[in-house]
Amino acid sequence: TKEIRVGIAGYGNLGRGVESAISQNKDMTLVGVFTRREPKDVQLLSEQVPVHKLDEIESFTEDIDVLILCGGSKNDLPEQGPALAKHFTTVDSFDTHAKIPEYFAAVDEVAKEAGTTAIISVGWDPGLFSINRLMGESILPEGETYTFWGKGLSQGHSDAVRRVEGVKAGVQYTLPAEDAINRVRNGEHPELSTKDKHTRECYVVLEEGASADQVRETIVTMPDYFADYDTIVHFITEEELRLDHAKMPHGGFVIRSGNTGKHTDQVIEFSLKLDSNPEFTSSVLVAYARAAYKLQQKGDTGAKTVYDIAPGLLSPKSPAAIRKELL
Ligand code: NAP
Repeated sequence: TKEIRVGIAGYGNLGRGVESAISQNKDMTLVGVFTRREPKDVQLLSEQVPVHKLDEIESFTEDIDVLILCGGSKNDLPEQGPALAKHFTTVDSFDTHAKIPEYFAAVDEVAKEAGTTAIISVGWDPGLFSINRLMGESILPEGETYTFWGKGLSQGHSDAVRRVEGVKAGVQYTLPAEDAINRVRNGEHPELSTKDKHTRECYVVLEEGASADQVRETIVTMPDYFADYDTIVHFITEEELRLDHAKMPHGGFVIRSGNTGKHTDQVIEFSLKLDSNPEFTSSVLVAYARAAYKLQQKGDTGAKTVYDIAPGLLSPKSPAAIRKELL
């Protein structure tokens, strides 16, 4: 079969992850990376792949089957998503949940007009978690859905910790509360606030002479970020921070707990434990790029979300092979 020719627009954590994920998929080839920076300043993992200016991407429409958009959700994708769907079949990981409907509408309009296919908001949340929330409530209409996040590094909360006087460096992890998860798994259907569901754990390197007690107090009482949570603060050395806290782990659980018959508890659970959030998200993007390519080939155009994509389209295997091997 023909190889799917993939391009990457924007080269940060996800861009790097997509580059390595493509090398694990034999039916795909990476034809180029496009960046707003000077191409010579962008160092790829492989020296075989050319880097181009994003401005010049329109001259590559014949060379790329699917463009994977790896820009940030806050500022890049609202502009790049619609602009690039005008010329390419695309996949992106837009994750500003509240703005997905308007982003979908903007991309859909352009993609329908241009005859391209654009799968938006792909990844794990939104993405695989979204699929599991839908399955849960469709299969068990009488019940509750719970999403817990973590253990995960939170960029916003890490920044907040680093702004505290006396803090030299630090990171913050969001942890799912074990007792809350266990109550959900037991079918109790508890009412849980965000605070009940998660605890916060900080690893802090102090400035010389700073008071640990004072820093801890400032962190745990910080409004909006920590005051409403159980927050644990650990003090570590710069060396420990560098060695033990450089990865970007994440993950979580989607649990649907419902009842069918009168006294029949049914629990569906999906969980992820990720050493690297961006590398995993990128692997999901690459599988969906294959689906985008197949839909485009069939003439199924416009914006799509993970809900519109049949699972079989993600596989490099034929429908007959997946029926035989996996069904
Ligand atoms: P990132 O590393 O900040 O990269 C975003 C963009 O910034 C890149 O496309 C790149 O564009 C530019 N950039 C990267 N490194 C740079 C540098 N050293 N100097 C200047 N510019 C640089 O962001 P990311 O970690 O890849 O994440 C991208 C988005 O993925 C996030 O905003 C998040 O919303 C989304 N995400 C979604 C999920 C999900 O489950 N759906 C999960 C994780 C992340 P240029 O190459 O054009 O300069």
